[in-house]
Amino acid sequence: MKKYFLIIFGCQMNIADAERIATILRDLNYEKASKMQDADLIVVVACSVRQSAVDRIFGLIPKFKKNKVKTILTGCVLDFDKKKVEGKFDHILDIKDLNNWHKILSEKDLCYPKDYLNIYPERRFNFIANIPISNGCENFCTYCAVPYTRGPLKCRDYREIIKEVKEAVLKGAKEIWLLGQNVNDYNSDGVDFPDLLKMVNNIQGKFWIRFTSPHPKNFSQKLIDVMIESEKYGPYLNLPIQSGSDGVLKRMNRPYTYEKYKGLFLRIKKSFKEKRGEDIFISTDVIVGFSGETDKEFKETERAFKELKFDMAYINQFSTRPGTYALLKMEDDVPKKEKKVRDKKLNQILEKYVSAKNKKYVGRVLDVLVLEKNNDFYTGKSWDYKTVKFKSNKKDLVGQFVKIKIKKAFNFGLEGELVKLIVLLGPTASGKTDMAIELAKDFNAEIISADSRLIYKKMDIGTAKPKDFKGIKHHLIDIINPEDEYNVALFKRDAQKAINDILKKGKTPFLVGGTGLYISAIVNNIDFPEIKPDLKLRKELEKKSDEELFEIYKGLDKEGAEIIDKKNKRRLIRAIEVAQTRNFFKDTKNEPEFDILELGIEVQKEELKKRIEKRVDEMVKEGLEREVKSLSEKAPILETIGYREWKEYNDLREIIERIKINTFKFAKRQMTWFKRDKNIKWIKNYPEAKKEIKKFSK
Ligand code: SF4
Repeated sequence: MKKYFLIIFGCQMNIADAERIATILRDLNYEKASKMQDADLIVVVACSVRQSAVDRIFGLIPKFKKNKVKTILTGCVLDFDKKKVEGKFDHILDIKDLNNWHKILSEKDLCYPKDYLNIYPERRFNFIANIPISNGCENFCTYCAVPYTRGPLKCRDYREIIKEVKEAVLKGAKEIWLLGQNVNDYNSDGVDFPDLLKMVNNIQGKFWIRFTSPHPKNFSQKLIDVMIESEKYGPYLNLPIQSGSDGVLKRMNRPYTYEKYKGLFLRIKKSFKEKRGEDIFISTDVIVGFSGETDKEFKETERAFKELKFDMAYINQFSTRPGTYALLKMEDDVPKKEKKVRDKKLNQILEKYVSAKNKKYVGRVLDVLVLEKNNDFYTGKSWDYKTVKFKSNKKDLVGQFVKIKIKKAFNFGLEGELVKLIVLLGPTASGKTDMAIELAKDFNAEIISADSRLIYKKMDIGTAKPKDFKGIKHHLIDIINPEDEYNVALFKRDAQKAINDILKKGKTPFLVGGTGLYISAIVNNIDFPEIKPDLKLRKELEKKSDEELFEIYKGLDKEGAEIIDKKNKRRLIRAIEVAQTRNFFKDTKNEPEFDILELGIEVQKEELKKRIEKRVDEMVKEGLEREVKSLSEKAPILETIGYREWKEYNDLREIIERIKINTFKFAKRQMTWFKRDKNIKWIKNYPEAKKEIKKFSK
């Protein structure tokens, strides 16, 4: 099999192009080479936007000759630069003709969409999807080569974009980047950029949305509102200022003033703070030493940096590009040395403010998408686009969301560690509640209940709800009415929220319970697709007996069948509904977001049986019958152990006996489930648990 190697220069748009080239090459039976020396075909996706990138292409050419490979030059290249390398590459191909490349590279008869952007990409990493929404630009900023390399603006059909996002999310994309030279110019059949952003946000799945780049000249209030309302939009924005001087902006053909930019910048910051309760991270692009930039004009940019205190800035020293207005009609008259000085000055201002802001992050917990691993360190970007590194001995966290507690701040980055989560689990009546309360006192913790029955209000006796929390805050107890539906996906959402709240207080989260599926949702970080009730399916399943339903469920989810209550019809129907959909969404388990210590309470069977019997007798004495009768007949919980027996049997002694037998059987099923998890450390008592937690917390 022949091999190809891609060399990519420039921005994310070129990465998106390269991923489409990879699709064509895959279809032509090429496989990816891990290094250039092994390749039969090298494709350079070039960038003419900056002279430095062009120089690097020239630097590559002698290496190709040594390898005697076939070479292609493509990408964002000016005709001027193409002419300079004529004869040095086997082919110089226009990226927009990608759907016809196969005719040049092989005899194979293939067919691709006319618009090359609609060729489904072979992504470098499944967890990041760079999705172009348009190509080209008609803004003609006087310094910019893009209108000449990519041509006039062409917006991609919004349906194609939505299709691509959905496919990317199904394949595991955690970060969706919507790309365009000016996203604010986007329009496809009346769908503008805010409409598109809203549509992407409505796509099911756990992923973050980012976009780049918007032009300040047409940044609408509608877009600000949609950014704020879109819960998947991470609060990060690159808003290119280019200069803080109105004179320079005019010469750049950027139709806004500094005051207008500042107004927009402050409005976005204020709106996020007020309406979303969080800061938005705003970076910028700026050019120093543009044609005729005087000291006074540069000072205006310095003032802008001091006033706006950007979270990051990409500072470029002006270089003319062939074909641009700036080259034809203006002079590159600021000496190189002076450009360097100005670059340095802006960097110093930036560094001062960014490092001060970074210091405030110490002690905070951030959600981070892990992007890479180098030696011992993982590096990623936080929800608000901060660069975060951390050490971990976990094998592969790349492409995962994790929670990081920040320990150190640097000028342009942060360092932290995985947040620690303690899980205390065990079968019913194993003594989790009391032990968890004592441990929570020792370790300044709050407890999140992982018990599928404690969530119900008015159900205190039959669920053995703790009577005295002894001053320890408990979460996810008494949160819904007995008639309401609840499921594991909602639990995961609520538990994550509770964990975040606990962490914000600087406390330790303890996850405590006996519902295996709830614990697994957090420990195995399972992505649950939002599964709406399928009324037709439910109607069909209603006709079946409990035994038949159980058999169907077992065929779909063997693991779940070991723990499910075989006589709870409502649960069985919902489990089938979920399992059918989940089979479609394969590989839902992920690496955990936390550093987790799982402690299981081990109790001998005989002892457990005794405790269960004692507990059931106490429940009856406390008024379990009265509690059962006070509940609406529609309450789903009436189908669970301790409640349903009152409907199934008439004799009080038999009811009590049945509750005891069913509870003990349930406890055995819980143990079967837990024993499969090899990460659980089994402890017998409170001192053992305390010792393990101490060791783990070091
Ligand atoms: S908006 Fe200006 S800087 Fe951006 S791509 Fe278009 S011409 Fe270039």
